[in-house]
Amino acid sequence: MSVLVKGGTVIDPTQGLNGVFDVSLEDKKIAEVSPEIKSKNGQEVFDASGLIVVPGLIDLHVHAFWGGSVYGIDPDITSLSKGVTTALDAGSSGAWNFSAFRNHVINKSRTSIYALLNISTTGMVFSNDGELHDLRWLDLNNTVEKGLSNKDRILGVKARLGRVQSNKNDKQALKISIEAAENIGGFVMIHIGNSNTPITELIDMLRPGDVVTHCFHGFGDGVLDSTLDVIKSMKEAQSRGVVIDVGHGAGGFSFSAAEHAFSEGLFPTTISSDLHINNVTGPVFDLVTTMSKFMHLGMSLNDVIARSTQFPAQTMGLKDVGNLKVGSNGDLTVLRLEEGKFIFRDRLSTATSIGPNTWAAGVSVTANSRLSHVLTVKDGVIYKPWLPN
Ligand SMILES: [Zn+2]
Repeated sequence: MSVLVKGGTVIDPTQGLNGVFDVSLEDKKIAEVSPEIKSKNGQEVFDASGLIVVPGLIDLHVHAFWGGSVYGIDPDITSLSKGVTTALDAGSSGAWNFSAFRNHVINKSRTSIYALLNISTTGMVFSNDGELHDLRWLDLNNTVEKGLSNKDRILGVKARLGRVQSNKNDKQALKISIEAAENIGGFVMIHIGNSNTPITELIDMLRPGDVVTHCFHGFGDGVLDSTLDVIKSMKEAQSRGVVIDVGHGAGGFSFSAAEHAFSEGLFPTTISSDLHINNVTGPVFDLVTTMSKFMHLGMSLNDVIARSTQFPAQTMGLKDVGNLKVGSNGDLTVLRLEEGKFIFRDRLSTATSIGPNTWAAGVSVTANSRLSHVLTVKDGVIYKPWLPN
């Protein structure tokens, strides 16, 4: 199979590419990127004039264990058909049920799915089940064993450290998560927001390469209002190599929190969706919509692309995705930059409170541009969800 994508504006931050180029793909790989590539017999040619061509998007936070976790959704329908060619499942499964996730979802999806094992062996079977309320569900040996025997797919450990998920066990759960990740040779992603222990203490425990997700969540203890300490601690963490991730989710992103953080010089390292069953029909919809929200906040197109291709690839330790270098995996995404009036919501909730913290009420903004998905090329093949394979 041979594909030629002609005449699009190619943006690949890893190579400093931002201009009109043709891209050819052969044998599931990127074959050539140059100003003019002649089409060959039998080659499938896509005219990308006026469109943007980027490396296949990478979503650092999704929930793809459909059928095994109440949050799970089918990654080919919600990620691949929306331009995401590689996705990281953030803790939907734990050591006890990862094999089901692997056999029934990961191995059968065209989207490349990697996973962080939930440090709770149960994963996220049902909604806000307090998977870390009982330390018996944390099994270090079992987690390490599962991680080591699936090293090609398991990249580390996830711990949800809110009151609802871990309550007073948050610090202990993080300690065990770090130990597990060290044994597996991976990284830890922590979910923050409404935690029992102050966020700054949890962030200080993280190592370079670890990830904080829901950084712009808009709980009272996040990067909102007077919590400059949190912003300062995140900036310090980012400068020592901790990844500051978006993880939009149903309640993990607030425009006002992000504006506040930006005004203090804190920007996300990576832009991810936290796409799951409760936000895929809004307010998240997909990764491209999340990226558009960051353009509305003033981030450049190039920066938004880097944070959804180059930096998530780097975080996941993947070299042959997230770029359009010759020989890299044949994944690319074609986007359209539309001008007009577009309404974005950050979350669905009106003001509510959990524990001592209050959520910021959901906000709508009107943006004058947005990115929209046009086409996905995965493993060198144009993905056509509307045709039987
Ligand atoms: Zn999540």
